[in-house]
Amino acid sequence: MSYADLRELQSALTTASDIAFSLEATPAPHEADQLADALRRALAAASALGAAAGVTGCAEHPRGAVDPLFGDKNDPLPPGWGRCLLCNDRRRRAGAQRRGWR
Ligand SMILES: [Zn+2]
Repeated sequence: MSYADLRELQSALTTASDIAFSLEATPAPHEADQLADALRRALAAASALGAAAGVTGCAEHPRGAVDPLFGDKNDPLPPGWGRCLLCNDRRRRAGAQRRGWR
């Protein structure tokens, strides 16, 4: 999650809220457009927040690769392992060293 995305979300929501609470019962078309624009900005920023977490769901490697074995029913990953290939490789190496493989 980037700080810029969060600021954009907060700014867009504040704008939308300001517009919504200042509307009369029958808003002018341009007022409704401004409100829709602000809400679209908020939605885009909110989506970006989720995307920033990355496909790996890993805080350390948000833009890393997903382990191809994640979700593989025939060769499942050990319990507690995530989707992050970099972290899983680290776990594999650590496990191999514990078992004396080099
Ligand atoms: Zn990772």
